[in-house]
Amino acid sequence: MPTNLRSNLHHDSRSRFALTNLRGVNGRGARGESATITVMPKVSPEQAYPGVAFQRRTRRWFARWSRALPECEHLATDNQWMALYSPDTLYLRGKSSALRTPPRPEVSICRACLLGLLEKELAAYTGRVVAFQPDGETFSQYFFVSREDFDAAGLEDDLVAAIGARLDALTGTCEECGNAARWLWLPHSEVHTLDETALVREAPGRVLCARHGAKALCRALEAVEEANLFYINAPYAEAGAYVWIA
Ligand SMILES: [Zn+2]
Ligand SMILES: [Zn+2]
Repeated sequence: MPTNLRSNLHHDSRSRFALTNLRGVNGRGARGESATITVMPKVSPEQAYPGVAFQRRTRRWFARWSRALPECEHLATDNQWMALYSPDTLYLRGKSSALRTPPRPEVSICRACLLGLLEKELAAYTGRVVAFQPDGETFSQYFFVSREDFDAAGLEDDLVAAIGARLDALTGTCEECGNAARWLWLPHSEVHTLDETALVREAPGRVLCARHGAKALCRALEAVEEANLFYINAPYAEAGAYVWIA
């Protein structure tokens, strides 16, 4: 894992599925008033991801009760490439927070299903992105962190400054189509790890619009032969970076 990213994302499938938020102790508040039970609104995987077919086995009551993740049908026969897609949940140092209400549910999906969802999501994002191409051999998580959350994510100060400078300098037009530039894509051949702060500052990268940035990222994931990604999210806020950890 790059030492510049101190974050150690905590993988706790239970904490993500809390449906109730109990306040008070044993059903009574401090002064004896009745407890408030907040039931969070929910979105089903079918509503959240139209077009993705989920295995019935993973949608039965027992799977839901045991909090097993919904899995796309392709994973029933081929699980060489799977990703835990959690578009609206941010995990920083073991704490999770929802990026929208209600958050779309976490699902386990194959490469084709993931890229079908992710490419649209990324192309529709209007903010600015510095995206590091992950090392396809070793990455286990690939996630977007907004600029405001860089510190909370554990990025070292010099890395925060380097990415910030690239975000600030992100102007002009896409080198593919001439639309407004929104992405700086940093290929793995130019920046190998987040520890290479000097390269983060100076690597030429590719300046792209949202659509071509989305394509670059998705084609890079497509080229990875085998993967078991524990966490991949979607971009949020005004600007940030896609980073990976092993
Ligand atoms: Zn699938
Ligand atoms: Zn473009």
